[in-house]
Amino acid sequence: MSRQGNLFVISGPSGAGKGTLVARILKCIPDAWVSVSATTRKPRPGEIDGVHYYFMDKAHFDDLVKHDGFLEWANVHTAQYGTPRKSVEEHIAAGDQVILEIDVQGAFQVKKKMPGCHLVFIMPPSMDELKNRLQKRGTEDQETINARMEVAKGEVKQKEKYDFAIVNDDLDRATDELVDYIERHAGKDEPR
Ligand code: 5GP
Repeated sequence: MSRQGNLFVISGPSGAGKGTLVARILKCIPDAWVSVSATTRKPRPGEIDGVHYYFMDKAHFDDLVKHDGFLEWANVHTAQYGTPRKSVEEHIAAGDQVILEIDVQGAFQVKKKMPGCHLVFIMPPSMDELKNRLQKRGTEDQETINARMEVAKGEVKQKEKYDFAIVNDDLDRATDELVDYIERHAGKDEPR
C-alpha cells in the first residue's frame, strides 16, 4: 500500500531547529523524502556535497535557473539557494511525502506553483533563545549572526501566511506535532 504524494514546505529562522526536526521526522515517516537544495554558499565543516546541499558556483546556479532547473530559488543571506525541480516532481509522482526545508520567499513561490502544498513554520521559543542557539552553533561570526537575526525578525512576521506553525521549545513535542500534521495531510492510502 502506498499513499498519494504530497508536498510539505518547512520554513523558519536559522537556528529554529528545522534541520533537527526534519532529521527526526524522516525516522518516523517511512515514505517521507527530503529534497537536497543547491546553493552557492561555501560548505560548513562537516557538510557533504550531495547530502546537505549541492554546492556550486554562481555560473552553474545561474545556468540551472536559465534552464528551468528549479522549482523555486531565492537569495538568502549572502548566497543563492534553490530546490531542484525534477527530483521533487518525481518523488511526489512516486507517492512520497516530500519535504522542502526552504526560506519564506521560496515557500511562497512554491505555494503559487503548487497550491495544494502545505506550509509549516517553525518558531524558535524566543528571539533571545534564537540568538543563543546561533552563537552556540559556532559556525558563523558575530556579524553574520547579527545579519541572520535581522532576517529572522522579518521571517517571523510572515508566519501568519503559513498553514501551520510549531513552536520548537521542546524537541520531542515539536517532532510529534510535525509528524501528526504530516500524517493528517498525507493523503489517503491507496493501492499501488
Ligand atoms: P543555511 O545556510 O543555514 O543552510 O540556510 C539558510 C537559509 O536558506 C535557511 O532559511 C534555509 O531554510 C534556506 N534554504 C535552504 N535551501 C533552500 C532552497 O532550496 N530554497 C530557498 N528558498 N531557501 C533555502
